[in-house]
Amino acid sequence: ALKAGDDGVKVTVIGTGWVGLTTAAVFAFLGNDVIGYDVNEKLIEELRAGRVPFFEPHLEELTREGLANRRLSFTTDIGAALSTAEIIFLAVGTPPAPDGRGVEMSFVSRAATVIGENLRPGKLRVVVNKSTVPVGSNGWVDSFIRQGLAQQGDAGPVDFVVASNPEFLREGSAIADTLYPDRVVIGATDARAIEALTRLYHPILTQDFTPPSFLPRPAGRGKVPLVVVDPVTAELIKYAANAFLATKISFINEIANLCDFVGANVKDVARGIGLDHRIGEAFLNAGIGWGGSCFPKDVIALIREAEAYGYEAKLLKAAYEVNAAQRFVVIRKLQEVLKTVRGKTIGILGLAFKPNTDDLRGAPALDIIRKLGELGAIVRAYDPVAMHRCRAEVPDLPASYANDIYNLATGADALVLVTEWEEFTQANWADIARLMRTPVVIDGRNALNKKYLEGLGFVYRGVGV
Ligand code: NAD
Repeated sequence: ALKAGDDGVKVTVIGTGWVGLTTAAVFAFLGNDVIGYDVNEKLIEELRAGRVPFFEPHLEELTREGLANRRLSFTTDIGAALSTAEIIFLAVGTPPAPDGRGVEMSFVSRAATVIGENLRPGKLRVVVNKSTVPVGSNGWVDSFIRQGLAQQGDAGPVDFVVASNPEFLREGSAIADTLYPDRVVIGATDARAIEALTRLYHPILTQDFTPPSFLPRPAGRGKVPLVVVDPVTAELIKYAANAFLATKISFINEIANLCDFVGANVKDVARGIGLDHRIGEAFLNAGIGWGGSCFPKDVIALIREAEAYGYEAKLLKAAYEVNAAQRFVVIRKLQEVLKTVRGKTIGILGLAFKPNTDDLRGAPALDIIRKLGELGAIVRAYDPVAMHRCRAEVPDLPASYANDIYNLATGADALVLVTEWEEFTQANWADIARLMRTPVVIDGRNALNKKYLEGLGFVYRGVGV
């Protein structure tokens, strides 16, 4: 790895959200000079002060370290952001389009145009798209940069190439996933772009860096495979990876639903099939299914992509439909146990779409709470980190908030575990049983110990267990 004082690569990251900020902080940590640029002035102000306004373990530490050793800086001035850049990452959002039928690409097109308007003649600039985008977007980004350049009039020849470098990090372990990835994918045909990106990724590919004190290298971690392909293939790799993982979860959830009918245990089924190395044990946890900002939108985007060619992606559609229904399994189970939920007090454990994040995009908890509200239940909720964001982003949610799990349990007719935070699995369930009006727990993540809870007098319902 580069040491302080060596010349690192000059990197600019456009969009400093989850992906952009992680990318910026990690490449600064590896000794490069990184500028983070965002249109959100408040965000940049916070980052400059060393505060990360979303929850991601260690990201604030790494950001502060970068600021302190001057490898990392932030700006809302695009000219300043681009003036020295050798590699420019695009990491802006690509949320679902408002009509729900495609991908909102305006952030990407806007950012690409602005890059074009502000690039000056000089050395080669490699513009690297890290946002998850529909197949073919690489060429599209290229054309928007050209449009931006045309706006400048006769500025002289500007040398740039566009490459694709899809991101596979998971929220909650974003830094570990970036420092210790399973692979790095580069989509480019231009040799100079491939060379520049391989140089930037060199410490990660070779694992030749001193790990941060808070994130030791996982045991047995060797060199990281580099996959160099054309841009279209790189873009499809990203969608295919997410679609496969989403389908794997929908698959085990379908099996879990069958387990509920026949009286089998899906945890044992998952272990029994997962030990087959062709299947693998990861991502076979049955429950209420996937959510978040990526799986739903990426699966839909791939279905739409196929449709554009007159092809029906039947398997992906089924994976999506199984998942859309799965989050309401907990409501069926509540109705089975309580008969009617009208007027009953239901405590929701967890709001975020998964543990270790406060991200609420696509969170099953929100759908479950709304449905319970429609059914006349009195809903209370508790999440270790996401309540603040929930109050701000979903003010109309028909739920009140508790201070902690014990407060939530007090007087409740049932608890529903939606997010498997350790705080919940490690809680004192004997105390919880005493605090509840009726000790009923619906475990939407199969994260609790059924036998132990039943021993405490709980009525326990998991998913397929
Ligand atoms: P995000 O919403 O957290 O961050 C996007 C940032 O881009 C925001 O801060 C926004 O202000 C900024 N932005 C928008 N338009 C801009 C512009 N024209 N110029 C500069 N900045 C602009 O999004 P995210 O979760 O970091 O995701 C970014 C991309 O990475 C998406 O395409 C997403 O699909 C993909 N991705 C996300 C994850 C994840 O876990 N979050 C994982 C892999 C890939």
